[in-house]
Amino acid sequence: MHQLTIAEIIRGLRSKEFSSTELTRHLLGRIQQLDSNYNSFITVTEESALAQAAAADQRLANGEAPALCGVPIAHKDIICTNGVRTSCASKMLDNFIPPYDATVVDNLNAAGTVSLGKTNMDEFAMGSSNESSFYGPVKNPWNTRCVPGGSSGGSAAAVAAQLIPGATATDTGGSIRQPAALTNTTGLKPTYGRISRYGIVAYASSLDQAGPIARNAEDAAYLLSAMASHDPKDSTSLKQQPADFTAELNNPIAGLRIGVPREYFGEGLNPETASRVQEALRTFEKLGAQLVDISLPHTELAIPAYYVIAPAEASANLSRFDGVRYGYRCKEPKDLRDLYMRSRGEGFGEEVQRRILVGTYALSAGYYDAYYNKAQQARRLIKQDFVEAFEKVDVIMGPTTPSPAFELGAKSADPVAMYLEDIYTIATNLAGLPGMSVPCGLVDNMPVGLQITGNYLEEARMLNIAHQYQQVTDWHKASAV
Ligand code: GLN
Repeated sequence: MHQLTIAEIIRGLRSKEFSSTELTRHLLGRIQQLDSNYNSFITVTEESALAQAAAADQRLANGEAPALCGVPIAHKDIICTNGVRTSCASKMLDNFIPPYDATVVDNLNAAGTVSLGKTNMDEFAMGSSNESSFYGPVKNPWNTRCVPGGSSGGSAAAVAAQLIPGATATDTGGSIRQPAALTNTTGLKPTYGRISRYGIVAYASSLDQAGPIARNAEDAAYLLSAMASHDPKDSTSLKQQPADFTAELNNPIAGLRIGVPREYFGEGLNPETASRVQEALRTFEKLGAQLVDISLPHTELAIPAYYVIAPAEASANLSRFDGVRYGYRCKEPKDLRDLYMRSRGEGFGEEVQRRILVGTYALSAGYYDAYYNKAQQARRLIKQDFVEAFEKVDVIMGPTTPSPAFELGAKSADPVAMYLEDIYTIATNLAGLPGMSVPCGLVDNMPVGLQITGNYLEEARMLNIAHQYQQVTDWHKASAV
């Protein structure tokens, strides 16, 4: 039963082949039995999952089931869940139980999903390997000596290990696409503003966006249809009508113009990864698409700009964790200053403190123009590259990551090496564009992801393109377990 896709679960539940309660029990059993190998969950909500499943079975029996009624999922632990601890994988929020649901959780609840719990992640979503979690690293189900990617490594690993068919995740600079690539799952980061950020703990507000990780594009389309909505509680939420992202999956893609950026195939790209991506591009040609050589000339500015802007926003966002209002508080503070300093010093991990330091420095008087303003100017140039590219092509494709999953600990001592993992994904967030990663092959039995970047609000088309690819290839069906 754990091999079923979301589309198959929807059909199976409606034709009464199995109940949501049976499926939920089965998956909870797998989590209990297997997750000690992966550490993909921080919290498992067995009791409420079974209650939600029973309610879903009742609605299915009454013939009043919403779209995803009875489908088990899990939420990244950065997304607030009413009454269920939301830790951000940080000691700082180890004791934080939100009194409300994020809008995206509300939306998925309304669609009938059953939440099995909260998935592990890099602390406050800062990282590319899922090694910075207070609860320990997540391990890649394809090889448990390797990282699953980050920061949504728990969501990706749980899907890859067939503990759940799909999960929510967030992506500030690649955290949906990068772990999807390294675990052979399909992940989609929508256009900035497509999914409400209300109730998602803020990392870098101008870049953060939630999205689904699932086994294939069709399942990602089901989840996205439920997750996306206009939300007056998020001032950056786009005024879009609810959409059915499964509607265009079967459109033919002949005539599609695929931009292939020169800059994404240069130095630093593993040659084997490059050849899997090239094979995928040839498959698209066979489907009638046309490859167009393009240039995104400011690509090399993406990492330096991001690693100023994201820490700058993070330093402001994380100032709320002061040991006073909620979260961790140090023992016996001497005075207010000591309370602030020790609560933050003891509550935040090393990488989070590094980001706060860098961000505060970049925003300080005297340095603001040299760093923050410069980074914003670079951001504008990067966005402009894409605007010009999309005058000539419909989508852009390339590798999601420079190489397959690396071993745990391999890059922990070198933050810059870790930041370079994001080289192909970060520009998408700086531009606010939608991006996707789709399995496209294996290197030494480790997965490779193809990145598909679309124009603004073109998620339905991207899912269509990915689905058509998955109709003629089986990479997404390759399994770690
Ligand atoms: N790896 C990037 C970072 O550490 C992106 C993480 C993310 O998308 N949340 O900031």
